[in-house]
Amino acid sequence: MVNAVRVHNYGDPSVLVWEKVDVGAPGVGQVRIKHLAVGLNYIDTYHRSGLYPLETLPAILGLEAAGEIIAVGPEVDGLSIGDRVAYTDQLGAYAEERLVEADRLVKIPDGIDVLTAAAMMLQGLTVHYLLKKTFQVGPQTTLLFHAAAGGVGLIACQWAKYLGATIIGTVSSDEKGEIAKAHGCTHVINTKRDDFVARVKDITDGHGCDVVYDGIGKDTFPASLDCLKTFGLWVTFGNASGPIKAFDIGLLGKKGSLFATRPSLFHHIASREDLTCSAADLFDVVAKGIVKISVNQNYPLRDAAKAHADLEARATTGSTVLLP
Ligand code: NDP
Repeated sequence: MVNAVRVHNYGDPSVLVWEKVDVGAPGVGQVRIKHLAVGLNYIDTYHRSGLYPLETLPAILGLEAAGEIIAVGPEVDGLSIGDRVAYTDQLGAYAEERLVEADRLVKIPDGIDVLTAAAMMLQGLTVHYLLKKTFQVGPQTTLLFHAAAGGVGLIACQWAKYLGATIIGTVSSDEKGEIAKAHGCTHVINTKRDDFVARVKDITDGHGCDVVYDGIGKDTFPASLDCLKTFGLWVTFGNASGPIKAFDIGLLGKKGSLFATRPSLFHHIASREDLTCSAADLFDVVAKGIVKISVNQNYPLRDAAKAHADLEARATTGSTVLLP
């Protein structure tokens, strides 16, 4: 038996319970991993609250972790006991040990520590597709990134700067603004003080942005649409403030023949080839120091409830890991 954090019912962070679970031996195509660090992501709070319902309850939360292989099942190629590995799309990460499908693992390259690996997979692969696939960000791009000092946000600022873009980032405090700037954000807007639509208009001489990346959801809709130039792209990819209610699609026409997309990382890494290619790109920018993963908080895994509360209270910056 090992310790894990499970939910039996949806609700606030108090539904996260620390309890013993059985892991068992790896089956065909599986390995058993001892987790050394678990990544905390906003989606974990949606799974906990029921905003994104889980297939079954009780369930062990968490999609992302890094650790060491301690047992290998039949028909697993290329992985051995002792290998350092990470994954990002397998529910059940909030546990000291677990079984996982071998074909969803990537080996952690030498030079990247397990804490960094656990913190960066989900957020880093998200930034990869947002900047390179959803929209091809380059030197001509002016983009708005909400929650620029968050986990996804700090990675996006650094990577977009490397790609040559002009980055406008929103934050809710001057302290967070300083952090975003230190990570490459060109212009910072403190939304507690300033109207972000007016500030974006000022910064872009009234033109608006090519693309808006919005992980806030309810609170920034429809204002985010007013930050786009004609034919601009609205990328709504999260609900930190709650989901956006149904709206009249004609709004996109009225606001300037806008494009809109609601992407998910899990489609972008569904095939083994896409997972390994995207992870190789991410490991490359991290190994070269182009993107630094700011692991600004860590909590014992058993205190996952506190970590969730802090994340939802906007009290964190950068990435967070839970330590088994
Ligand atoms: P963050 O570290 O960015 O934390 C969320 C941030 O959102 C807060 O720090 C806060 O920043 C901002 N925020 C604004 N309003 C609220 C609110 N009412 N309640 C809480 N936070 C608020 O989280 P992540 O980096 O883990 O994720 C960022 C977003 O990206 C989330 O919406 C997440 O679901 C989404 N996501 C989507 C993926 C996809 O493929 N679709 C994949 C990965 C993440 P501030 O105080 O500065 O405003």
